[in-house]
Amino acid sequence: MVDRGKASALAPRSSLLDFMKCPFCKGHETQVVDTRESEEGDSIRRRRRCVSCDKRFTTFETVELRMPQVVKQNGMRSEFDAEKLRTSFKRALHKRPVSTEAVDAAIDRVTHQLYALGEREVGSRQVGEMVMQELLKLDKVAYIRFASVYKSFQDVGDFAEAVKAVRRTPAGDN
Ligand SMILES: [Zn+2]
Repeated sequence: MVDRGKASALAPRSSLLDFMKCPFCKGHETQVVDTRESEEGDSIRRRRRCVSCDKRFTTFETVELRMPQVVKQNGMRSEFDAEKLRTSFKRALHKRPVSTEAVDAAIDRVTHQLYALGEREVGSRQVGEMVMQELLKLDKVAYIRFASVYKSFQDVGDFAEAVKAVRRTPAGDN
């Protein structure tokens, strides 16, 4: 069984009794008697017993986990690139007192958020917003830097908006 549902990727099934149909009698109740991870760790093999006819069979479950494609404003699609993300963070945080550890954690959080969306595509704008949220927590100067480039500030008003966002964030966390 190839399970492509979103929920399965986030919440692995743990119940011993589930509703996989029996291939012999089409009974709806089967019991999992054995669960093994494949050697590569990318699929789960389950030995099941049908509650009605007592026959046994095996199912394989794989979880489809992949990063969504990033769609730019102009409709161009590209693979998600963690290195690109790191470059954006680095550029914004240039010479700012933020540890590599904190940056790594922020990149991890953005990556996980993207995974958790379970979507095939995500707008580059949405990725940008996630980065901004992380920068806002990490370093306010970096946030303003990133926002000014990313939102390509047209005038002083745009800048004032970004500063307001910084002010709304509780002080003293960096
Ligand atoms: Zn059966």
